[in-house]
Amino acid sequence: QAKDQGRNTWEWYAGESDPTTREQIELRRELQEALEHDQLLLYYQPLVDARSGKMKALEALVRWQHPTRGLLLPGNFISLAERTGQIIDLDHWVLWRACKDLNIINTGRREALSVAVNISPVHFRRNGFFDEVKQALEESGLKPERLELEVTEGLMMAGSEKSIELLQNIRNLGVRVAIDDFGTGFSSLSYLRQLPINTVKIDRSFIQDITSNRMNTAIVEGIITMAHHLGLEVVAEGVESPEQHKDLIQRRCDKLQGYYFSKPVPLAKLLELPQVLPEKS
Ligand code: C2E
Ligand code: MG
Ligand code: MG
Ligand code: MG
Repeated sequence: QAKDQGRNTWEWYAGESDPTTREQIELRRELQEALEHDQLLLYYQPLVDARSGKMKALEALVRWQHPTRGLLLPGNFISLAERTGQIIDLDHWVLWRACKDLNIINTGRREALSVAVNISPVHFRRNGFFDEVKQALEESGLKPERLELEVTEGLMMAGSEKSIELLQNIRNLGVRVAIDDFGTGFSSLSYLRQLPINTVKIDRSFIQDITSNRMNTAIVEGIITMAHHLGLEVVAEGVESPEQHKDLIQRRCDKLQGYYFSKPVPLAKLLELPQVLPEKS
């Protein structure tokens, strides 16, 4: 989780003298305002069927429309929100908003799309998370099968039996579960066997140089083969080129996500995207 976040977290403070703590307190206060005054919004990035390019699902990715600093990416505020506990409210809002938006998006669509929502380990472990998921589904009317929760490997490693039980309860609702950024943590492929999950998302770092780095090619191939043997669906994230696309089709990856198909876009823009990606220009 920290991987993508560390580097850019405080970039807009660069140059100021040792303000980290004061600035973090300030950021925390501002984030509270953002939560209360509707400054958060969701962007959506398509996941396509690898072979047909047909849009099948969306990942909801939070953005912060900051009153003076412009549009902030999660790398600027998620890890702070995890430390302050504000992530609970943030993730709750994202879950609720995404379920509602999906009903708008699916209205008049021939084949309904699913939505994937990222859940912080801090949030997942909290009592009441299960009820929150149930409530979001009830209030929005979204079919449970249309919701997928993305959790990280680390969560499972630390999580032991309690986490597995919670996952099972969530699965029993009909909600799907994906392991995000797979390959960056320390869990082994065989460990996946014990988890009641549906999907493995291979981390972007393995996809990036899949056509040139033999080691990564082998890792991706290993993940796909093993995951399929376990009956799991495989998604590759961070697909940026036609070469990577071709390669991943050959390796029988199920779904693909990345800038090559579409960047994350706001809802209005999403509604204008074609059903099959990448868009021919
Ligand atoms: P993630 O869940 O692994 O999401 C994928 C990230 O990769 C997104 O960054 C997305 O914009 C980016 N990405 C997608 N395709 C490409 C590509 O082809 N090339 C490159 N270079 N990047 C690509 P984003 O939106 O900045 O989000 C970063 C991370 O923040 C997410 O990683 C996720 O861990 C976290 N996050 C985002 N939204 C939420 C949320 O609502 N709640 C929580 N707890 N975490 C969130
Ligand atoms: Mg994700
Ligand atoms: Mg991911
Ligand atoms: Mg990632």
